[in-house]
Amino acid sequence: MVYVEDGGFVMPGQEICVAEEYLPGLNVRNTKDNIIVSMKTGFVKYNREKRTVNVHPVKIVENLNLGDKILALVREVQEKIAVVEILAVNMKPIKHRRVAVILPPVKAKQDISECIGVGDLVIAEIVTLFSGVIGLSIWKNDLGSVIAICSRCGSPLKRKDRILVCFKCGSKEKRKLAYYDPAVLDRWILSKSPTG
Ligand SMILES: [Zn+2]
Repeated sequence: MVYVEDGGFVMPGQEICVAEEYLPGLNVRNTKDNIIVSMKTGFVKYNREKRTVNVHPVKIVENLNLGDKILALVREVQEKIAVVEILAVNMKPIKHRRVAVILPPVKAKQDISECIGVGDLVIAEIVTLFSGVIGLSIWKNDLGSVIAICSRCGSPLKRKDRILVCFKCGSKEKRKLAYYDPAVLDRWILSKSPTG
């Protein structure tokens, strides 16, 4: 018995068909009642040759998915949000740069201007794609600023004890730093160049 026809739109947990007719393929699972249900939001695709059923997931924003790690350049820092430009997604540079927004932490009240600065390179995670807005988090340990730029003179800041110091103008600044494996970081930064 088939509940959803080929090409039909399904949500996670929605019943697609009885498992006797088709075997579970991609993005579906079999329940103990022997019914195949979807694990993703997407479109049902039956493969009649292999007798499998798959769900092709919908991508809300092209090439971007929740949980993707991105490398971004900070353009503007406001009290509660920061506007960034995405340069790379999951270590691959993207052709058309997209604007995204770093959202404040859910629990703590933190001034974003004490966590990142304009010109910084940050590694962030996509946490929402609601109505076309790419929302980012930098609040996990491996997320945050990876190259911090002095807000006064534009030189790179260097870490000294628990703060960042500009060796050119002496400015002392705070950042939410990403604790990233240096080798992984190099790959990220290098991937920015078109040849990489
Ligand atoms: Zn400086």
